Amino acid sequence: MDDRNQLPSTAQVNMSDTSVLYCPTVPLSNGLQIPIFGLGTSHFGGYSHDAIVYALTECGVRHIDTAKRYGCEEKLGQALRESGIPRMDLWVTDKLWPGDYGYEAAKKACIDSCSQMGVKYFDLFLMHWPGSMRPGCSNREVRAETWRALEELYEEGVCRAIGVSNFLVHHLEQLKEDCGVVPHVNQVEYHPFQQPNKLKEYCQQEGIVFEGYSPLAKGQVLSNPTVLQIAEKYRRTPAQICIRWSIQNGVVTIPKSVKEKRIKENCQVFGFQLEELDMATLGSLHDERHVTWDPTDVE
Ligand code: NDP
Repeated sequence: MDDRNQLPSTAQVNMSDTSVLYCPTVPLSNGLQIPIFGLGTSHFGGYSHDAIVYALTECGVRHIDTAKRYGCEEKLGQALRESGIPRMDLWVTDKLWPGDYGYEAAKKACIDSCSQMGVKYFDLFLMHWPGSMRPGCSNREVRAETWRALEELYEEGVCRAIGVSNFLVHHLEQLKEDCGVVPHVNQVEYHPFQQPNKLKEYCQQEGIVFEGYSPLAKGQVLSNPTVLQIAEKYRRTPAQICIRWSIQNGVVTIPKSVKEKRIKENCQVFGFQLEELDMATLGSLHDERHVTWDPTDVE
């Protein structure tokens, strides 16, 4: 058996061959397949046109994660077109910033983001944060109102899948009570130092694909002695060990780099398998650390 196939059955991963990068996909509840590996983008130096084109054309990456917040939608659209990859072969995730929450604002923001990027639809559109950032308003009500706009965008085909980001169990439970469509994806912080396994289990039970961001803990995990030791054992880099660990846990992962060499390195995670013992050792590194932001106190 090809060792690339040895992923846990709980991950429900389907195998598909996408040009250079051999990347499994994870089925969403609506039947779409999200590539388990994608490339992140971000603000503050987190975007490079050349790096995106390189990832798409030289590494076979087909999944890109972005957000209005990152301020690169227009440039990203140019890079997608320059790559020459047909739109239907790409998976593009974008996110709605809380400043655009509310029914009318959300619909307008999504259409505006599409036109900024020069695309007709997003493969996945996420509510970026559970808080409405609107003083005096109930977060729950604003989330529900916003979600109804996303449901409509989904019905209209502007978004092929819709989801949330940084939502905890109570946010998801409230949304279930208030709305119709269960989010297809929940994108949250996930790396060896931050393993919200109860939330992951809940998502699995509810048919919500669990996607992990900051898989390298923004670089913090790369100098951890345990990670370095495991990397040496497999003759892989610490980044490859962490990305592979996410993938073997069935978690969709989106490491970000603006450097070509690192993008290539980060893609090379499908030709080896971490042993159960090493998976468990990495699993023991959880220390509740958040390297991005923490939604715990958002009501
Ligand atoms: P990551 O854990 O992906 O780490 C990125 C950092 O690691 C950068 O400094 C990068 O530097 C460096 N790096 C990348 N690859 C390597 C490598 N092979 N060796 C050494 N260093 C490396 O953190 P992010 O927070 O950027 O998360 C990834 C993506 O997740 C984001 O781009 C974004 O798309 C998404 N995200 C979503 C959030 C949400 O709220 N929904 C919040 C945060 C992130 P360099 O670029 O210089 O290579």
